[in-house]
Amino acid sequence: MIVVMKSGSTQPQIEHVINLVREMGLKEHVIVGTERTVIAAIGNDRLKDKSKLETVEGVDKVMPVLAPYKMASREVHKDRSVVSIGKGKIGGNRIGVIAGPCSVEDRNQLLETAHAVKESGAIALRGGAFKPRTSPYAFQGLAEEGLKILAEAREKTGLAIVTEVMSIEQVPIVAEYADVFQIGARNMQNYNLLNKVGEQTKPVLLKRGLSATLEEFLLAAEYIMARGNHQVLLCERGIRTFEEYVRNTLPLAIVPELHRVSHLPVIVDPSHGTGKSYLVDSMSRAAVAAGADGLIIEVHNDPEHAMTDGAQSLNPKQFAEMMKAIKRVATAVDREV
Ligand code: PEP
Ligand code: MN
Repeated sequence: MIVVMKSGSTQPQIEHVINLVREMGLKEHVIVGTERTVIAAIGNDRLKDKSKLETVEGVDKVMPVLAPYKMASREVHKDRSVVSIGKGKIGGNRIGVIAGPCSVEDRNQLLETAHAVKESGAIALRGGAFKPRTSPYAFQGLAEEGLKILAEAREKTGLAIVTEVMSIEQVPIVAEYADVFQIGARNMQNYNLLNKVGEQTKPVLLKRGLSATLEEFLLAAEYIMARGNHQVLLCERGIRTFEEYVRNTLPLAIVPELHRVSHLPVIVDPSHGTGKSYLVDSMSRAAVAAGADGLIIEVHNDPEHAMTDGAQSLNPKQFAEMMKAIKRVATAVDREV
């Protein structure tokens, strides 16, 4: 890290900072300028608390040089990662689309939707069996019965299964049926859960928290990777802002920014990212144009009667149209779907 001293800082103040830098196990390199002195603290400062130096007398500001996350960062892994999900891959030239209902409601609903999304080119089926609901009285998901229906859909369609795991206790049962663990936005900072999926051998689709910064998002990914599971897919699903015409605000600039600082594949969820089915097609095309490696789309065979998130779910026909539209955009940006 770089410690910039205030102009007019005294020699004893500078020496005090040098001592603190040494106490942190770092080596100082002092640059005396005409107006100010700058102290470069050399060594691995990832685990060092820069805020400790920020309030020391004579210090103006402290700037980190290394990102606080390591395995998720591009500094240590130059090439972009590719994560296999079932027979498909996310992170290569081909854009992978995950589609399906918000929740698994019954066998007919899921199988009908699964066949439809497969037909249109999805590589994986989504569907929640454990649902994080704002109200405790709302439909909470079918639990294991839902997982069994998902497994049947995989058998019938060949689609990989992506489904949410909400707690560490649910990890073994979800691991039994799913191909990819989904960590929901509300659990992005559930560190015990991140550690637990970090010990598994299946990929993790990590959703960005409703009010998480990019750095917090990547540090959550780091938790999973630090436990040995490097198969992490970052998913932008929209954040909370003052805006009310959408359910969440979908900040697509995060796609190229994540690619700049991380090697992990980036997926966009325009369903939760807008909350409105009529906005999903446009935002899917925009996400592909921005460089997204994948999309996760809510599709329901009968959105008007969906038990959860019907307003943001496409019907199979709309999904088929959307897939055609993103293919055209993908071609324009030298990608495939
Ligand atoms: C979902 O995918 O249905 C879901 C609950 O997503 P999020 O965690 O992004 O709200
Ligand atoms: Mn949903």
